[in-house]
Amino acid sequence: MNIVFLGPPGVGKGTYAAMLSVKLNIPHISSGDILRDEINKGTELGNKVRQYMNKGHLVPDEVIIEILKKRLDKNDCKKGFILDGFPRTVRQAEELKRFVDIDIVINFFAPEDLIIKRLSGRLICPKCKAVYNIYFRPPKNNRKCDICKSKLLQREDDKENVVRKRLEIYERETKPLIDFYRRNGILSDVYADQDIEHVINEIVRKIKGDVHGKNSRINKT
Ligand code: ADP
Ligand code: ADP
Ligand code: ZN
Repeated sequence: MNIVFLGPPGVGKGTYAAMLSVKLNIPHISSGDILRDEINKGTELGNKVRQYMNKGHLVPDEVIIEILKKRLDKNDCKKGFILDGFPRTVRQAEELKRFVDIDIVINFFAPEDLIIKRLSGRLICPKCKAVYNIYFRPPKNNRKCDICKSKLLQREDDKENVVRKRLEIYERETKPLIDFYRRNGILSDVYADQDIEHVINEIVRKIKGDVHGKNSRINKT
């Protein structure tokens, strides 16, 4: 099944995608993780995108579209995938549509004050990509990854002034995708202001409602 996770920064897309990827045995493709890896490796691409990311701006459409097309062409995507963080603009969504068929788009939403708290408390493992939260999901050992013991970091763009910019850009550039996918008839809303287990159960319910393909809901009514 080809799944897209849509929603503002901090709503929990990466957390749910990582868990669901194990449950459904399909890859979790995070555009942000791919870009951060390029930055960490010091590649030409990494140097190019760093400024955009640290300021909370989107990287140019043509750059990210190219990267995602390459990733989706890999063999492990044949049985399905979860896209997290892509598409983020209408142009990206249009390109994606030309490239693959998406079965379902899960649109996560939560109150803005909760999102800001989740972002300000987020810590990430630069090595294995595990995501923690100092308020909601603290690591067992002070600032060390439970899984690989690496030192956890706060993302440069999770600092307060950048967070505000990212939310603004989400409203302007990404929120129009809700209507885009609703018109396509493949959007399902999930309320993310609940504990992680509840959110995961709700996603699974929505996905199961779609096992017969993207028109299943239309056929039922
Ligand atoms: P996104 O990928 O949408 O930006 P993340 O998955 O990184 O969001 O989650 C943002 C932060 O909120 C992380 O620190 C994560 O641990 C925490 N988080 C995510 N979902 C929940 C939840 N349902 N309850 C409590 N904390 C959550
Ligand atoms: P979050 O889920 O917290 O918003 P991500 O890890 O998805 O963060 O993205 C981090 C940054 O990477 C974005 O602010 C942006 O600079 C860049 N980025 C990721 N995905 C895209 C995309 N699809 N289009 C443009 N920029 C992107
Ligand atoms: Zn780790």
